[in-house]
Amino acid sequence: MEDLVTIPGVGRKTANVVRSVAFDLPGLPVDTHVGRLTRLLGLTTATDPEVVEAEVCKMVPPPEWGALSLRLILHGRAVCVARKPRCGECVLADICPSAYLADRVSKIPKQRTARSKK
Ligand code: SF4
Repeated sequence: MEDLVTIPGVGRKTANVVRSVAFDLPGLPVDTHVGRLTRLLGLTTATDPEVVEAEVCKMVPPPEWGALSLRLILHGRAVCVARKPRCGECVLADICPSAYLADRVSKIPKQRTARSKK
């Protein structure tokens, strides 16, 4: 990680993709889907991707980090879409604290980006 983030244009998200996909090492890339879904699922309240990563990594065994990120990304694209989550089709609806709460979903804080941190 510390070497990868020295490459221009590479932040923790990309470095974690490289770690988990290319090197099969633990890495939890936090993109907008991962941040949004972990907040909707009540796993974190953080909007800073590094804080989301740190908090979620504490809950999941390291070998599962990369696969969890990919599952959340796919779920965020296919079912829990940002504008209108399809809670009626969601296998997580029974355990999701945001299920069927359209008002709450729209109020979930947006992820902070490198640009918005400046
Ligand atoms: S129940 Fe709704 S808000 Fe919760 S993860 Fe599923 S689609 Fe998203």
